[in-house]
Amino acid sequence: MRKFLHNVLFIEIMKALKLVFSHYFVKEVTLQYPHEKTLLPNTQRGALCLLRYEETQEERCVGCDLCGVACPSACITVVSEVDEKEGQIVRRYASSFDIDITKCVFCGFCVEACPVNALAMTKMYEYSTINKRDLIFDKNKLYDIGEKFHGEAKGYLVAHNQENEDEEIVSQYRYRFPASRQEDETEPEKKKAAPKLEAAVKTND
Ligand code: SF4
Ligand code: SF4
Repeated sequence: MRKFLHNVLFIEIMKALKLVFSHYFVKEVTLQYPHEKTLLPNTQRGALCLLRYEETQEERCVGCDLCGVACPSACITVVSEVDEKEGQIVRRYASSFDIDITKCVFCGFCVEACPVNALAMTKMYEYSTINKRDLIFDKNKLYDIGEKFHGEAKGYLVAHNQENEDEEIVSQYRYRFPASRQEDETEPEKKKAAPKLEAAVKTND
């Protein structure tokens, strides 16, 4: 009898319609991508980029290859070079820097490994292509992304406690080469920022 009433009164259909109509009064969560986009947090792991020092536009990367060593997918290839002046090395840098994005798992280990915060991640995620070769990001492309999404890259480093918004503290992370030559110039700056750096490290702990 119960089964008969269920069939006659279309109970199952009524239940389904009730569920459907109840959603008319629920706030929409679906976004009409690509016309609408959601806000992403600063911790978002999007495309990688390389950064320059803001004031001098000098490349931060010193070609140490620590990022390549830390990468679990072995997708970073760095070729290191040095500039010499009067028999002394005055600059180390990466003459070639490639990341094969097809292998990247966006773990962020390379960014953490970089001693000078030359690498960062951005919120850029729209770079699908039909040509696989376009997904090998070379040095120029990585610096272009870094320039275009500079704010996002800095936001990523700050969100991951790798950099601080305070310029005095940031100056402590900067690479100066050779250290013996630069020591005298940077000493007053280091002394001025030391208490702030200590406080920042304690806060991060
Ligand atoms: S995010 Fe991870 S997988 Fe991608 S390049 Fe960096 S270390 Fe390698
Ligand atoms: S990005 Fe950083 S870790 Fe990688 S080679 Fe350059 S300085 Fe070294």
